[in-house]
Amino acid sequence: MFKKTASWLLLSVIILSACSNQAPANTTETPTTSTEQSNTSTPTATTPESSETATSETPATPATSTEGTTTGQSSESTSAKDSEATAPAEYTYHMNKNYDIVPNKESKETPKKVILLTFDDGPKEKKMIDSMMDTLDKHNAKAIFFVNGYRIKTHPELLKLIHDRGGIIGNHTQDHIVLKHESKAKVTQQIEDTQKLIEDTIDESPRFLRAPNGATNDTVHALAKKHNMLYMNWSVGSLDWVNQKDPDAVISNVMDQLHSGSIILMHELPWTVEALDELLTKLEAKGYTFVDPNAIEPKAR
Ligand SMILES: [Zn+2]
Repeated sequence: MFKKTASWLLLSVIILSACSNQAPANTTETPTTSTEQSNTSTPTATTPESSETATSETPATPATSTEGTTTGQSSESTSAKDSEATAPAEYTYHMNKNYDIVPNKESKETPKKVILLTFDDGPKEKKMIDSMMDTLDKHNAKAIFFVNGYRIKTHPELLKLIHDRGGIIGNHTQDHIVLKHESKAKVTQQIEDTQKLIEDTIDESPRFLRAPNGATNDTVHALAKKHNMLYMNWSVGSLDWVNQKDPDAVISNVMDQLHSGSIILMHELPWTVEALDELLTKLEAKGYTFVDPNAIEPKAR
């Protein structure tokens, strides 16, 4: 009996220490706020954003089509998946100040010619999410989904669906308002409410933050640091929020701006979903592979 208790105690200690090992050490975060801030006005980052809000925010179709396509939403075996997702074996890539993804050490396993796929402003609709995840699976690709809290409130099951199917969740604030000129309290509320909502829904803390319109300030960067998130804009805009209903335009906009390490901004929009398979096929044909967001370091450098 005594022996049994002792071995239980020993087991618990082992488990506890294993858990604490999983948390990536976040003692040193980059003091990059000022430089990063000037970066927010990079290429396609800020300009299209007002239209982004205008066009992609109105849900194209109310989420009626819940029956969706083929793939089931297997919510089993999520706990095992969770521990895999939160505990990257090793960070092999980092993001630089131009919002490009760079290998820490270039090799066959960690090539320079990579793309990071990101989809903003969801989760909206099961049908679109199923299709995106099917396409990503087909190409063995992972992506970050920058989600809004107000949408999670309406459809927590869609956030779970993305997560269960291997999508990486990023914080894109509560209401998709432009944070740049908001008070510290408002910015904090916008980011922290969403953070909590995501944690409560998928039992995992987002590691990535993107401000609506890519428009940041010191408070945004401080909050990213506080919550161990990598602040991430993008280096290639698909312009899917401008060229409405045109899958070919989404593809050509990406292909025209393409470079090694591109972080591609797309949205959960019907024409983007439609374009995705062909886009990923074209990217692969050019020799690009898709970087796993879990392999990206928590700080820019
Ligand atoms: Zn957005």
